[in-house]
Amino acid sequence: MGRRRRRQNHFLDFNSSSPLYCSLWPFLLVLLFFASFYLVDGKTNATSSPVTPINHDLYHTSGALLEEIEALVHRHPDKLSIETIPSKNKGYNAEMTVVTYCRKRKDCDGKSKFRVLLSFGQHGRELITSELAFRILSILSEEEFLPYTDRGSVNDTLDNLVIKVVPMENLNGRKLVEAGDFCERRNGRGVDLNRNWSVDWGKKEKDYDPYEENPGTAPFSEPETQFMRKLSISFEPHVWVNVHSGMEALFMPYDHKNTTPDGSPSLRMRSMLEKLNHLHLKDRCLIGSGGGSVGYLAHGTATDYMYDVTKVPMAFTFEIYGDGTASSKDCFRMFNPIDITTFNKVLNDWSAAFLTLFKLGELQVDGLHSGDVASSSEKWISIDDYLNGYLFERRNRYGKKMEVLELGMQEIRTYFRLFLLSSVLLMFMFCSRISKSTRPIVSAMSL
Ligand SMILES: [Zn+2]
Repeated sequence: MGRRRRRQNHFLDFNSSSPLYCSLWPFLLVLLFFASFYLVDGKTNATSSPVTPINHDLYHTSGALLEEIEALVHRHPDKLSIETIPSKNKGYNAEMTVVTYCRKRKDCDGKSKFRVLLSFGQHGRELITSELAFRILSILSEEEFLPYTDRGSVNDTLDNLVIKVVPMENLNGRKLVEAGDFCERRNGRGVDLNRNWSVDWGKKEKDYDPYEENPGTAPFSEPETQFMRKLSISFEPHVWVNVHSGMEALFMPYDHKNTTPDGSPSLRMRSMLEKLNHLHLKDRCLIGSGGGSVGYLAHGTATDYMYDVTKVPMAFTFEIYGDGTASSKDCFRMFNPIDITTFNKVLNDWSAAFLTLFKLGELQVDGLHSGDVASSSEKWISIDDYLNGYLFERRNRYGKKMEVLELGMQEIRTYFRLFLLSSVLLMFMFCSRISKSTRPIVSAMSL
């Protein structure tokens, strides 16, 4: 407001020495000029909604989080090890960090132990998931403890486990979010890493939106996905969990169709999820196939691939938090807790759920036979996509379109202002010339 008022006074000073008929037009144009500001501001205020910035008191930056994880690993070489592997595709670089937990470092490379593969941060905007990865690793290392947990019992379970954690699968996308694009979920070159897998890849539903779901140029076109695929094939996990946020749900295959697999594998997975939901999440999570539960299908997802192709007996997508009341553009708030109480509750509840998952999973290991796993011709509905949430995603898509429209209107307004400004200046120059040409006449008459 102050800036505009100063400009207005400036222009009035110019016009005060001009003849009346000349000074009137610039004055009106100046009024129009400032009226355009008023209209623009009024409209902007009416359509924009507040966007919550990243709360750096609660959340690490990606760099700080990876440094903390590395330091944690170095403090516990008896339990933890870390690898950072660069990968590349057509000039696009990605860097993947994997932490391996194995107590006593015995038989960690063999296949005798129960194996769990966890991925966090596949979508850039879901910061809370990578914080959960750090919390779980801190608990596994015994630097942090969960209340009401018998550590001795937990350690008995952990003795027979190897857990691989990818704490930030989409580091490049995460950096875009940290740079201010709070709604970005894709990787550093615009591909959704949870649509880039080969099961039913590339199929587009009627509501397909490339901003959210771009599957890439081909299955496994992205170095991040290539890496995860290789890791899953070499590690042969018994349990896979793809951890997301956007809602609260425990999903099992399938994402690309609205059914779950037939037979005992499906029953076993559902039973596991129901126990976790009841024990740790107050039965508030949605349980079922991603595709069936959310009302839309997701094609080319990681969990469908893990179940159908890698033959992981228990493949899940967990959605750990969502704020359904957040506005469509307020993505940090929509996908991440913004207060410390909720932040800690989410991390504690889900850490406890994961410890129970490890325990129950191990108990079931004897009952796991690859033959039980559904054949690749069977299909499911999306887990992750469900989590990211059909409703949430659609609202975001709509929000993005509105932003584009708003940008166009801003440009038009800017041009309009420039046009008015140049008109005023031309009018002023014109009137100045008239003033000069009339002065000698007046002087002559006064003599
Ligand atoms: Zn997600």
